[in-house]
Amino acid sequence: MMPNIIKLFIVSFIIVCCNTSDKKPDQKMDDKEEVAIDTAMIEYIRGQFDPSKHKDFISIPDQYASRSGLYLRREALSDFIKMYNEAHGAGVSLIIKSATRNFDYQKGIWERKWHGQTLLEGNVDARTISDPKERALKILLYSSMPSTSRHHWGTDIDLNSFDNSYFEKGRGKKEYTWLRENAHKFGFCQPYTSKENGRTGYEEEKWHWTYLPISKGLTDYAERYLKNEDISGFAGAELAIDIDVVGNYILGIDPSCL
Ligand SMILES: [Zn+2]
Repeated sequence: MMPNIIKLFIVSFIIVCCNTSDKKPDQKMDDKEEVAIDTAMIEYIRGQFDPSKHKDFISIPDQYASRSGLYLRREALSDFIKMYNEAHGAGVSLIIKSATRNFDYQKGIWERKWHGQTLLEGNVDARTISDPKERALKILLYSSMPSTSRHHWGTDIDLNSFDNSYFEKGRGKKEYTWLRENAHKFGFCQPYTSKENGRTGYEEEKWHWTYLPISKGLTDYAERYLKNEDISGFAGAELAIDIDVVGNYILGIDPSCL
């Protein structure tokens, strides 16, 4: 007969042995995969990729854009072309002036404004605004901090003119009225509407439209997982936390686009 104490030792050894050899490696692999997926999504949300090399992106044919070399997510372009054709039938021309802008592109826009190479609205040189937060807020009237632009996502387009007044009379008014009445049928929504109802974030942009079938999920993802602390890599990036760029700007969109 084997003494009980020895039996207990053998059973304990088997349990420890099996847990170690069978489960821990699997568990480690799962953890690694989960971290890898999250990191890839955050990098995508932050525009840390080259759209010309990304399998989900496609170059916009010249007839739909004011310049070549613009990219969109494939589904967004497909539905844009349907919208373009229907608008054309109604006597309305739609031309994409800007589409995907990745982190590096947006960093160029931001830093040229930050360092005074591009003047801000009202011909203001940002370097004359000595308080860094005030300087950032002034740039943020119309330009996103790199990492936080919806243009990173390949779902957002700027149409016809970067001037709200263009859309308030004549041909521009006809185009804007058509878009307000019809764009939703093709999945497009205007995120930066009037701020009269308390919307935070960028000023009104009558030219900016987002492709909701993809961007809605990305907005939700950014709300959950993108932290102001993740925003880095350009002049003034440390101000993102104080300004709450995620809460006030990424989420500062018209409720119909949420
Ligand atoms: Zn835009």
